[in-house]
Amino acid sequence: MSPLIDTYGRLHDNLRISVTDRCNIRCFYCMPEDTPTYGPREELLTFEEVERFVRIAAGLGVRKIRITGGEPLLRKDLPRLIEKILAVPGIEDLALTTNGVLLRQQAQDLYNAGLRRLNVHLDTLDRERFHRITRRDVFDRVMDGLMYAKDLGFDPIKINAVAAKGIVEPDIVPLAQFGRQHGMEIRYIEFMPLDSQGIWERDKVLTADTMIAMIEKEIGALEAIPDADPRAPATEYRFQDGIGRIGFIASVSKPFCLNCNRLRLTADGKVRNCLFAVEEMDVRNLLRTNAEDQAIANVIRANIKAKWMGHQIGSTQFIPPPRPMYSIGG
Ligand code: SAM
Ligand code: SF4
Repeated sequence: MSPLIDTYGRLHDNLRISVTDRCNIRCFYCMPEDTPTYGPREELLTFEEVERFVRIAAGLGVRKIRITGGEPLLRKDLPRLIEKILAVPGIEDLALTTNGVLLRQQAQDLYNAGLRRLNVHLDTLDRERFHRITRRDVFDRVMDGLMYAKDLGFDPIKINAVAAKGIVEPDIVPLAQFGRQHGMEIRYIEFMPLDSQGIWERDKVLTADTMIAMIEKEIGALEAIPDADPRAPATEYRFQDGIGRIGFIASVSKPFCLNCNRLRLTADGKVRNCLFAVEEMDVRNLLRTNAEDQAIANVIRANIKAKWMGHQIGSTQFIPPPRPMYSIGG
């Protein structure tokens, strides 16, 4: 079958699968503080339904998969899904993004299922600030889970750090030091307008350039790493002293839309061609009514065909997506 190429010539081989919209912490840039609106449980795709979708997507050229959420470790028996996905012919790369709260309990089973690539979300090394950002006092659990996963042999482990101005400035340099010390790449992610409370403003974004300047001043010169995959969203740098590397997901200050290779499957079975997409297409009904593979492939193709050139964060044309980050799948 022909690959998934959109009208701007972008090849799509990267699928992000959300397995739940639930979360056990409440990061202020993602979730409301008290009662998030969760979808009904019966709308969640089963692992068998996700596996079938992955098989069809692999037939259309998808090679890389990331499991995300909500908090994916809240999904019961997740290692069973990992095994299923790794067994799909054509899938070459599988990664998981987690907040790490449940890593200590689950890391071994995930490793045994074949998972090796982890992104652990950690914005700060300061317990009090972690509590303020996530509204939960679980910093110690995340650190414990992270170090345990490292000891088990997960590799690479990357740290996702969301950069919101006025809060995490004191964390930018210590996180980079921590990454250098433990052989983990820090990926600084500019705060994006995907929060459920509508608090995002352009002025609250700590930009990649600002962070680079902070890190170079305190630690030393950085050198841009030419990208093996020019479509990858992070701009990667290595320290000139040879110890460690860092990345920036500069979606706001330097959007990477023209190189985007991603499509998404939400936990309730909608296909999305962009994190910021306003429209999505349903496959849950097709999966549940025993539709032919071809019908599901047609939805994927149609979704990619309808992909826009890029989000327009910061411009007057920008419309925030109707779902917040936890419900789309970050
Ligand atoms: N719960 C997991 C976690 O936190 O890693 C997986 C889902 S979370 C939605 C995926 C990633 O989205 C997080 O690692 C966090 O870095 C990022 N994120 C969430 N809200 C964001 C926002 N408003 N702007 C930028 N990144 C955000
Ligand atoms: Fe939960 Fe991840 Fe959203 Fe934080 S960013 S509230 S950990 S889903």
